[in-house]
Amino acid sequence: MGSVSIDNVFKAYGQVEVIKGVSLNINDGEFITLVGPSGCGKSTLLRMISGLEDISYGEIAINKLVVNNLQPKDRDIAMVFQNYALYPHMTVAENMGFAMKLKKVDKVKIQSAVEEAAEILGLQPLLARYPKQLSGGQRQRVAMGRAIVRKPQVFLFDEPLSNLDAKLRVQMRGEIKQLHQTLGITTVYVTHDQIEAMTLADRIVVMNKGLIEQVGTPRELFDKPANRFVANFIGSPAMNFLEGKCEQFGTQTFFTSTSGVRLPLEQQPKISDTTKAVYGIRPEHLKLTSADNGIEVKVNITEDTGSDIIVLGKCGTDQITILLRDREEVAPGDIIHITPLPGESHLFNANSGRRI
Ligand code: ADP
Ligand code: MG
Repeated sequence: MGSVSIDNVFKAYGQVEVIKGVSLNINDGEFITLVGPSGCGKSTLLRMISGLEDISYGEIAINKLVVNNLQPKDRDIAMVFQNYALYPHMTVAENMGFAMKLKKVDKVKIQSAVEEAAEILGLQPLLARYPKQLSGGQRQRVAMGRAIVRKPQVFLFDEPLSNLDAKLRVQMRGEIKQLHQTLGITTVYVTHDQIEAMTLADRIVVMNKGLIEQVGTPRELFDKPANRFVANFIGSPAMNFLEGKCEQFGTQTFFTSTSGVRLPLEQQPKISDTTKAVYGIRPEHLKLTSADNGIEVKVNITEDTGSDIIVLGKCGTDQITILLRDREEVAPGDIIHITPLPGESHLFNANSGRRI
């Protein structure tokens, strides 16, 4: 069983703090993704769990055992890297069994463990090959096989699919999810790709500049982002943001953008009329409507993906992105009218960025 608890962990390289107080409890069997922009500290946090990096302050425990001073090999974890890190002079079978061989496990036992893992990953026909005789996807699968053979308490993945082409990435993503469903081993998975993070995770951890911005299920993060950073990071195309303020007209509350665009608000925000706020609306939550009750948008660019059309335009002086799923005919230069879907808007504090 493999729970992981991270308690107020810091990491500094010399004077530079890169992890600035992270706490997180990962349940046994959970699939956690760590996501955030490049350089935010994802790999550093993962490497502290693995033992490849010292912990400057705070405590990490695996299964309630504090591992701060344990060597990686004594932590009962297995790590899979972006560059696979296979031994070129060993066959697939030897690569997969190597950790057991180092531990002086009996040959017959190693062989059966390797065969079992090969079976799960469909690697049987490749066991006698060398890494250079494999495709990128197959190498990645061998790296996972090597991790599975060790039957660890926790799998740690650091951007394992980043070297694969888009199609293979989607396929391997499915395989990793399947693997997790089959084996049920606690997994911490680092990626900078929010789609990968969303599709794989039980819970996502969004990181930014060495801190956690929000932890939640994919739906929680999408529906109720805690702040503007998460709102912007999760979802594609990204959420639209308009700066302005909330105003009351009679019984109805509106958001009025700096450039004068007026949008209805369903609920009364808990701020006064004059406070600056940021209105957020996802591109897929804007619909075409008639001229008399919509907001005017001048279309600059249209991107046809086959299934959807992404419209980039201007609404007053604000840039706006609209995702149309009904294959409407929209062309650059057109004036269209849009309306937000009721209940789908978000409001953020203009200063702190926090959700209102
Ligand atoms: P991510 O994986 O999210 O892209 P990293 O965890 O690799 O980010 O790095 C976080 C920050 O720590 C970066 O600013 C990086 O430059 C810095 N960093 C990473 N390793 C070292 C190191 N060995 N010495 C100094 N700074 C480092
Ligand atoms: Mg990294």
